[in-house]
Amino acid sequence: MTFVGSRFGEREEELVDLDQEEIITQAGRCLMQTYGRLPLALVRGEGAYVWDAAGRRYLDFVSGLAVNGLGHCHPRVVEAIRAQAGVLMHCSNLYHIEPQVRLAGLLIENSALDRVFFCNSGAEAVETAIKLARKWAKKRHGPERYEIITALQSFHGRTLAAIAATGQPKYQQGFEPLPPGFSYVPFNDLDALRAAVGEHTCAVMLEPVQGEGGVNVAAPDYLPGVRALCDELGLLLILDEVQTGIGRTGRFFAHEHYGITPDIMSLAKSLGAGFPIGAALAREDVAAAFTPGDHASTFGGNPLACAAATAAVETILESGFLDQVTRTAGHFRRRLEELRARFPMIKEVRGLGMLIGAELNRDAAKAVQGRCQESGLLINAIGDRILRFLPPLTVTTAEVDAAVDILTTALAQESEG
Ligand SMILES: *Cc1c(COP(=O)(O)O)cnc(C)c1O
Repeated sequence: MTFVGSRFGEREEELVDLDQEEIITQAGRCLMQTYGRLPLALVRGEGAYVWDAAGRRYLDFVSGLAVNGLGHCHPRVVEAIRAQAGVLMHCSNLYHIEPQVRLAGLLIENSALDRVFFCNSGAEAVETAIKLARKWAKKRHGPERYEIITALQSFHGRTLAAIAATGQPKYQQGFEPLPPGFSYVPFNDLDALRAAVGEHTCAVMLEPVQGEGGVNVAAPDYLPGVRALCDELGLLLILDEVQTGIGRTGRFFAHEHYGITPDIMSLAKSLGAGFPIGAALAREDVAAAFTPGDHASTFGGNPLACAAATAAVETILESGFLDQVTRTAGHFRRRLEELRARFPMIKEVRGLGMLIGAELNRDAAKAVQGRCQESGLLINAIGDRILRFLPPLTVTTAEVDAAVDILTTALAQESEG
């Protein structure tokens, strides 16, 4: 096997000089093949645009899977990272640091929850929520209360506990035995949830909008119904807002649309506007179940991550920002409904804010996505039939229109066969 550069040679210099084909070839040789990657190597991003290694520009309506909420390289986030990197990059959670306190304060002030645990990813935030719920339930109700009910078609991440929590067998197969203590119910079916509660149940965990599962939005009365059920039966409500949180749906948290609050909430994806960071938030009395030594993360809430996230959160919470997101998302939604009226292959358009899906009536999602990519628009295909659109929250109406134009051509070509 040949590898770029020698072990002690000018590997770094050569790596930045690779052309697109070479990057893709090397990836095939040296990376574990866990992803079905598209044949595209990206090298630079700015706002709603990214450039590939061949110099072509794309409108990015994937946003790093809802991570680049402020678009690529938002100046305020870049500056916060630069400034913090030259001061203190890491010091471990043996010590106190101001960036963590500032970010936690912001999250608490703007949610109904009281305490924060910082980590590095969505799965880790979910893992924290699971551990906290179990610890709380054992203290509160006894050792036999550990089961968490989640939804079919849910997605909670790829660690063993997170795939056990995920109600989709395709993520679990081949990794058994999975940690026990999870059961699954159909989403948006309150009766099924009530029927599933048993003597071991301690919590219910849901996404307000199932993102990876196909952009399935919780019905208006579902989450309030789940909240009431949890209160009635002494269960915790965990909301996994890893994808829906931090402005994605036009509110700071998606649960605000439903007029309810969770007991525990997981966050990640756009929290750091591109810098990896996750968080689990909880109500005071729930958070109190954790005592020193119960949970930890070496990198969790590192100064650099917290500085980036603070800049991101402050930007999103600026007056008018989320109203603008809602307006532009409404425009995008109307344009997509126009396409549905024009192209019978679009069966349904659904979503909340800037988390939008279009379900097709045939297996054309990958073909449409490929055609869009060829014409300079990145979108995401979930399975064979769902197109997912995750533009940056900062996307303009003109950029939405440009994307819709490309999509229109792709759909017309695909409809003609
Ligand atoms: C993406 C996602 C996760 C997993 O996040 P990672 O950072 O990939 O671990 C968990 N829950 C939801 C709802 C997600 O969308």
